[in-house]
Amino acid sequence: MELVRLGKTDLMVSRIGFGALPIQSVDRNSAVKVVRYVYERGINFFDTARSYTTSEGDLGRALAGLNSKVIVATKSAFKNLEQLDKDFNLSFDNLQRSYIDLFQFHIVNYEKELEAILKKGGPLDYLKNEQKKGRLRHIGITSHRPKLMLQALKTGVFETVQVPLNYIENEPLEELIPLARSLDIGIIAMKPVAGGVFTGNRSAISWILQHPSVVPIPGMCRIEEVDDNLKALDAPPARAELDQLEADKQGLGTVFCRRCDYCMPCPNDIEASYIVRSGMIFKRVGWDKMEKSHIDAFTKGLTCDRCGTCASRCPYDLPLAEMVIDESKAMLRKAVEQGLITEAEFSEKLKVAEKKD
Ligand code: SF4
Ligand code: SF4
Repeated sequence: MELVRLGKTDLMVSRIGFGALPIQSVDRNSAVKVVRYVYERGINFFDTARSYTTSEGDLGRALAGLNSKVIVATKSAFKNLEQLDKDFNLSFDNLQRSYIDLFQFHIVNYEKELEAILKKGGPLDYLKNEQKKGRLRHIGITSHRPKLMLQALKTGVFETVQVPLNYIENEPLEELIPLARSLDIGIIAMKPVAGGVFTGNRSAISWILQHPSVVPIPGMCRIEEVDDNLKALDAPPARAELDQLEADKQGLGTVFCRRCDYCMPCPNDIEASYIVRSGMIFKRVGWDKMEKSHIDAFTKGLTCDRCGTCASRCPYDLPLAEMVIDESKAMLRKAVEQGLITEAEFSEKLKVAEKKD
């Protein structure tokens, strides 16, 4: 696998990295197996986070003993010293390494968060001290707000920046990536397949690879997914693939879920993130795959009390309560068309939900 230099860190990382968020969703043995497979296929760059529950521990077990053969990045979403200290030490233990290659401030989406990190004697100084002790090599930052990252990079203290970049979310190409390149800051592309909304992952990743020095880190938790994603290295996207990416983009608009699950859990046990993308899922797999068990999730979705918890956590500011209710109704309407519930049952479910309002 081709290696590329991750900006001024001088780390030589594989052209495609491994996003370790989805391995949370499989059993521990399968997670370790897929990470080992990824390594065997030539990927040496692994990106996880404290907030990805079991992910750091899985990476630690799968990569134990490989030391400098792999480059491991993790992150903490805390912007205060006490919790960051806890997170850093937990990451250290979970990853089973004598040093962490790259520690990133996770989801820095607001100016006040950036200020908190940079505060004298605060989180940044804490990590710099860990660097002096030899427990940490490099410091990076991640965000869903490319404009805020312009400000962050100009401080000169971050060695890498990680933002969403894909055929739909391409704003970083305008200013952020040129700035990062001019400052020799490593560029990591999260969500290269936009949560799986494209017809083909190969073309979506291959499109990113056309941008030199940008390292995509697709999330993977199955062997077949790894094989599929690595096909992106074979060739640039063909004309037909680019046309399909454009058609996917036009079909989606801007208000769509990227499958990050930051919005979960819902205090009322509503499967909000699943519900808002269910239309997309069934459109792809076929409406005939809808089963009785799905109806319960959509019926529950109608009971959303608009508390706003999920929306306050969504980095894309999606109007989640409305989306959950509208999508639940739309899915139940589809269930009627599929003959899974009757028109009368559909009306009854709506009535019950309205009464609750
Ligand atoms: S707005 Fe609805 S779906 Fe979102 S957390 Fe509140 S109850 Fe759950
Ligand atoms: S609704 Fe927002 S937070 Fe929830 S999974 Fe989708 S993009 Fe992520």
